[in-house]
Amino acid sequence: MSELFQHRARKRFGQNFLHDAGVIHRILRAIAAKEGQHLLEIGPGQGALTEGLVDSGAQLDVIELDLDLIPQLKWKFGLKPNFRLHQGDAMKFDFSTLPQAGEKLRVVGNLPYNISTPLIFHLLEHAGIIQDMHFMLQKEVVERLAAEPGNGDWGRLSIMVQYFCKVDYLFTVGPGAFNPPPKVESAIVRLAPYAEPPYPAKDHRLLERIVREAFNQRRKTLRNTLKTLLSVEDIEAVGVDPTLRPEQLDVSDFVKLANRLAELTPDS
Ligand code: SAM
Repeated sequence: MSELFQHRARKRFGQNFLHDAGVIHRILRAIAAKEGQHLLEIGPGQGALTEGLVDSGAQLDVIELDLDLIPQLKWKFGLKPNFRLHQGDAMKFDFSTLPQAGEKLRVVGNLPYNISTPLIFHLLEHAGIIQDMHFMLQKEVVERLAAEPGNGDWGRLSIMVQYFCKVDYLFTVGPGAFNPPPKVESAIVRLAPYAEPPYPAKDHRLLERIVREAFNQRRKTLRNTLKTLLSVEDIEAVGVDPTLRPEQLDVSDFVKLANRLAELTPDS
C-alpha cells in the first residue's frame, strides 16, 4: 500500500499518523463499535483507526480535510457498504445532517492538535445528537478536560466540557506510537454528553461569561474578578463564598452564579 500512496505528513493539517498496532487495538477496544451504531470519524488520515471501525459493521462516516488522502481512503474503504467519505473541514461540517431520526452519533478521532479545543466546542453545540466521543488529544489537554476542582488544571475547558459531558481519562499514549512522533505525550479521553446537564444553566452563554470572567485572573477572589457582573451580595445570595478563588468552585457553583446573573439580566 505505501508504494501505491506515498504521503508526506503535513504539519499544517496536524498529521501524526498512528502506526502502533497495540495502541490502535486498545483504542478500538475502548470504543467497542457495534453493528447498528452510527460512527463519525474526524480526520481518518491513512485509515489507522478507520479499518477496525468499518470492520465492526457500524455505519461509518468520515471527514478528511486533506485532498491528497482522499484517493487512498477511497481505495481502501470505498467499496464497503457501511462507509461514507466526506472531504472537507470538520470545523464547518453540519453534524446534524448525519444521524437518522432517533439515532445518536458516536464520534471518534485522533484529532489534529491545533483545532482540538474549538472542534470539541463545535461538537458540543450538537451534544443532543451525540452518544459519546473518543478522542486522542495532547495529554495536557486531556488532563484539563478531566480535572477536578482545586486542581491547577481546573479551568474554563474543564468546566464548560463537564457541564455537558461525563469525562473519562482512558489512557496515555507515548510519541513513539505515531509517525512522525509528536513532541508531547498524548492521551485518549471519552466524553459522554448527559441527556440533561446535572446542573442546568438558564442560559449557558451566561455560564460561559461567568467562567471566562472568573478565570481571567485565576489568582484573584470572586468578589474581585466578578465585580462587573455580580455584587458580593449576589454571590452570597446563591450560597457561594465571594472570598474563594475560581479554581475552588465546582460546576454547580458556577451554574448558581450564572443563574443569578440570568435573573439580573432577563433580556440577555
Ligand atoms: N486518524 C489518523 C491516524 O490516527 O493515524 C490520522 C490522525 S492525524 C493526527 C489528523 C488527521 O486529521 C489528518 O488526517 C488530517 O489531515 C486531518 N485533519 C486536519 N484538520 C482537519 C479538519 N479541519 N477537518 C477534518 N480533518 C482534518
